[in-house]
Amino acid sequence: MIDLHSHSTISDGLLTPAALVGYAAKQGVRVLALTDHDDIDGLGEARQAAQTHGVHLINGVEISVTWRKRTIHIVGLNIDPDNEALKHRLAEVRHNRLERARRIADGLEKAGISGSFEAASAYAQNGILTRMHFARVLVDRHYARDTKSVFKKYLVRGKPGFVDHQWMTLESAVNLIIHSGGEAVLAHPGRYDLKRTSMLELLEEFRSLGGAAIEVVTGSHTPPQFVEYAKYAQLFGLKVSQGTDYHGQGISFMEMGRMPDMPSGCVPVWQDWVHARHVNFSV
Ligand code: AMP
Ligand code: MN
Ligand code: MN
Ligand code: MN
Repeated sequence: MIDLHSHSTISDGLLTPAALVGYAAKQGVRVLALTDHDDIDGLGEARQAAQTHGVHLINGVEISVTWRKRTIHIVGLNIDPDNEALKHRLAEVRHNRLERARRIADGLEKAGISGSFEAASAYAQNGILTRMHFARVLVDRHYARDTKSVFKKYLVRGKPGFVDHQWMTLESAVNLIIHSGGEAVLAHPGRYDLKRTSMLELLEEFRSLGGAAIEVVTGSHTPPQFVEYAKYAQLFGLKVSQGTDYHGQGISFMEMGRMPDMPSGCVPVWQDWVHARHVNFSV
């Protein structure tokens, strides 16, 4: 099993990088990409655990991007965690995230929910602060029954805990990934709620910037979307990727190691890794 999208406590996952790798191994994952939001700090710990468990770790990241006033996510695979430009820009994003988290807390305060910044920070520990941390606080306090409904009621556009935020440009994110030796993958395209024309424009722009692949099988897509996005990939000559986007028990759309098959006729993003990167898929 190949899983190229997952999160640890470095961003909004529930398991430490080492525990995540251990769990992946137990669930039958042999090639795992750790792709924390805007942070690559977990990769060292994950790599050590990967050696212990016989998992092939792919160095990854999931970069937040603003494209036409929408937030989209670009996954970088096989990036170099020591690349200075990448480290520097991600540190900037994390700094801005902190300011954003304060504004989210202000918004929630106005809706009568106090102390959410401190509570979310306690969850985030030393990692970044995401809306997922706020969601967990609100579930604890019984504002909704699960993180999914909390998002709907409090954390999406038009709700008290939503703030407009300017993330990186698509061009910067793709360039950073490519210049650090990685491949850029458009994460969960089906989640952006784009009309077909806009989706075609996004894919065209992404490809012309040097984007390599799009996620087809992901916890964020329905089975009909697997087929739909496999077709988009073929249309644009893009490769395809797959990943659970695992965040932890109870807050994930797909269980680690339980991924449906990729539709036929796709070119996987890992196609050349066996030769180029010595990935042993049979371990
Ligand atoms: P942020 O990057 O701070 O905006 O946090 C976004 C994270 O929250 C995503 O990576 C998901 O893990 C989670 N998330 C976003 N939208 C939803 C949603 N509608 N339902 C559940 N989780 C969501
Ligand atoms: Mn997340
Ligand atoms: Mn994402
Ligand atoms: Mn993700």
